[in-house]
Amino acid sequence: MTVESPSQASVIPSRKIIVAIDGPAGAGKSTIARHLARHFGLLNLETGAMYRAFALKALRAGLSLDESAGLESLSAKTTIHLAPGEGENRVFLDGEDVTRQLRNSEVTDAASRVSVFPAVRAWMVCLQQELGAKGGVVMEGRDIGTVVFPNADVKIFLDAAPEVRGMRRFEQMGARSSTEPMRQPEEVIRELRERDQRDRSRADSPLRAAADAMLLDSTGMTLEEVLRAAEKIVEEKLASRA
Ligand code: C5P
Repeated sequence: MTVESPSQASVIPSRKIIVAIDGPAGAGKSTIARHLARHFGLLNLETGAMYRAFALKALRAGLSLDESAGLESLSAKTTIHLAPGEGENRVFLDGEDVTRQLRNSEVTDAASRVSVFPAVRAWMVCLQQELGAKGGVVMEGRDIGTVVFPNADVKIFLDAAPEVRGMRRFEQMGARSSTEPMRQPEEVIRELRERDQRDRSRADSPLRAAADAMLLDSTGMTLEEVLRAAEKIVEEKLASRA
């Protein structure tokens, strides 16, 4: 797996910091991560996209999503290449650009299922550690501050009430999807709760805030307020390191 350089010159090239952003689905991690990456001149790495790409491969292969052995041997024959830019990451699965195929509900559900298996997680964590090894990254996921980079310079755990996250996700889907039938908000909220439950209850690296993470609950906040709060957390951490 390789990473391309960001198109924007680094604002703080000498610091090579790692910013870890974790939290449940629909909390706004991607938006915040992209913003922080642009603002501080860092690479934005979306680890969920890697689980999604692998899930797509498992679906295409017709594998059971509930059996570790098949998934583990599939992972040995899989390459995932992440090309971070200013917006979302481009994702290459065995050399094919699959970026546009990763956001539908089938892949979303499959990613949540395959990510419970320790063998899959161990493989992904290794790839992610390689990607972030040189620093200068914002890495976003579920276990970045707890498992992938427990020594990250800045850890943010982003949360919001399930109904708020569900409604935000519903609005995003309405804006984005031209291929899937329109969903009811209740259905989106229910699916999001299911994924959360799976992420929080799995035995291997469950979703939880690292003890030293800064908690940011965006329930009653505007996007602008959340962006400023996240910037402030990074700035304060940088200042305290200086
Ligand atoms: O973040 P995103 O929704 O794209 O992630 C897709 C799925 O991948 C999540 O539902 C979660 O189960 C899994 N995931 C994970 N660990 C990560 C990132 C994502 O288990 N670091």
